Amino acid sequence: MTKFMQRLGNDDWPEPEDKIFEEIKIETKHCKTCGEEKPLTEFYTFKLKDDRVGYRAECKACSIIKQRERQVASENHVQEKKKTKPPKKQCAMCQKVRFLKSFPTPESSICKKCVAIIKKRQQADVVRRLTAGDRVLIKFAGRGHGTRSGERIIGEVVSTHKNFFVLRNNNGYRESFMFADVACGMIKVVER
Ligand SMILES: [Zn+2]
Ligand SMILES: [Zn+2]
Repeated sequence: MTKFMQRLGNDDWPEPEDKIFEEIKIETKHCKTCGEEKPLTEFYTFKLKDDRVGYRAECKACSIIKQRERQVASENHVQEKKKTKPPKKQCAMCQKVRFLKSFPTPESSICKKCVAIIKKRQQADVVRRLTAGDRVLIKFAGRGHGTRSGERIIGEVVSTHKNFFVLRNNNGYRESFMFADVACGMIKVVER
């Protein structure tokens, strides 16, 4: 009796194999661009973070069309750029032909690099001429992170030495300044 029950029992009935049904079922998706419902195989895939597969919002046909449009657009852009080359001009000092953006203003005849060189030379000249008794204005370069950036000191040159000069401000406070700091633009000396 027991043996018979076992033979005809549920144990002998094959389990429905859900997995096979799922694989056979054709899933579809609406394309965002053309609006058509198409099988998933008509969509490009991409990998999601957890290794699952994602499907692009638009079908392969629409993706290809868009890709081609982008290509044409970028080729046109390159052509346009070639037509409108940024203007250049020659610097009156270094004689190099540079883009307009390399000049302080489009009207300037001297390029930014040469302007910087001139400024340094002017600074060096001011410092070289300093003698005791000169009244000067010292400006700390405003670079944003120095504790004294933007600070101004008005005072009288007390003495000049090989590498530095000593300044006495209006309160009688004395401070020395390195010529090297002037040369590299850390501080600016303005004669008054
Ligand atoms: Zn489409
Ligand atoms: Zn130049």
